[in-house]
Amino acid sequence: MADHPSVQHGVVHSVQRHEKEFCVDTDSGKITARVVIDAAGKLSRFTRRRTVPQFGVQFYEEQSRGDCLDFWFFDGGYGGAVSVEGGRSNACFLINKDMVRKLGESRTEGYRVTGPVAYDRLPSEYIAIGDAAGMVDPFCGEGMRHALDTGIRAAAIVADGLAQSRDYDQIRHRYESNASQRWSRKRRLGRLIRAMLKHPHVLATGFRLHPEYWFRKLWD
Ligand SMILES: Cc1cc2nc3c(=O)[nH]c(=O)nc-3n(C[C@H](O)[C@H](O)[C@H](O)COP(=O)(O)OP(=O)(O)OC[C@H]3O[C@@H](n4cnc5c(N)ncnc54)[C@H](O)[C@@H]3O)c2cc1C
Repeated sequence: MADHPSVQHGVVHSVQRHEKEFCVDTDSGKITARVVIDAAGKLSRFTRRRTVPQFGVQFYEEQSRGDCLDFWFFDGGYGGAVSVEGGRSNACFLINKDMVRKLGESRTEGYRVTGPVAYDRLPSEYIAIGDAAGMVDPFCGEGMRHALDTGIRAAAIVADGLAQSRDYDQIRHRYESNASQRWSRKRRLGRLIRAMLKHPHVLATGFRLHPEYWFRKLWD
């Protein structure tokens, strides 16, 4: 009788590869697997990534901003705020490392900091999805879409690979080239905008002149 699939929850402490299988050590025991997908996010300890000295900051404001999406560029970062439920606004910023300390001096509570962020993954033997595969620039506002899309792609390619008895490295290569085809253009755009952030006034003027053009490019 075929084994029924089961879901186990818990923290993954380590993953070891032995020839044709992985040994996954979790706080609820060891699991043996033919395929491992790293979905542990931007701070994943499994897939190596090239970090940059930037941090994400999030906080809520008690006032609504109506129908507007406000966006700011400043020396050391950028970010925006938008109305959410309960008459509040959600504000998210990406700031350089040296600003994190200044933020701590001016605001003592009510905000969350995460990072350092990483946009590029380094070669590794895991199938990585979402932020574990390298963040899509938050400016694109597509991190969740990227996480869902790469997760769906990985699931389909792994299921097909197992059904066709492909080995793990073949499955991983198929996934990586498929995900890269879908996301490399967006990553290039993110890289361009990141480079332009060194000239915030030019960037802000460009957005003011042709907001629709840029937002179509970002959210195509
Ligand atoms: C400032 C900022 C603004 C953003 N704005 C937007 C936006 O407007 N729109 C948008 O779509 N995206 C936005 N994003 C990005 C978005 O939040 C992420 O891209 C998205 O959440 C990635 O999903 P994920 O599933 O890959 O990772 P996560 O959501 O980080 O999930 C990873 C999960 O893995 C768990 N985990 C980690 N290690 C282990 C372990 N060893 N064992 C077990 N579990 C583990 C973590 O606890 C976590 O629950 C923003 C990000 C930042 C920093």
